Amino acid sequence: MATIKATCPMCGDVDLAPRQVHVRVVEAIEECDSRRTYSFDCPVCRDQITKSADSEVVRLLTSAGVRIERVPVPAEARESHTGAPIGYDDLLDLVLFLETHDLLAADMASAGGR
Ligand SMILES: [Zn+2]
Repeated sequence: MATIKATCPMCGDVDLAPRQVHVRVVEAIEECDSRRTYSFDCPVCRDQITKSADSEVVRLLTSAGVRIERVPVPAEARESHTGAPIGYDDLLDLVLFLETHDLLAADMASAGGR
């Protein structure tokens, strides 16, 4: 089993097993904007240490057997959109529409809602 050397700010270098290290990648639309961190509980002082990592550190840790947690980008963020962004006028139109078309209240009433 691989031994991973990490540095605790209080205790200095410590040796860890892959199962003691946690890698987390919060994906962004652009891969270069993804946030990568690794964390571990220091075996000496028991503090949880979290440090940022670049893609090379993530690659090395995963090749040593550390499991990676990926937090994906919602699919909606990757959709292509056309047209102008929603503006105040669009919101006002929606409010005016809802004032004359109370479909939600009608649906709730027919479903026995409160
Ligand atoms: Zn420590």
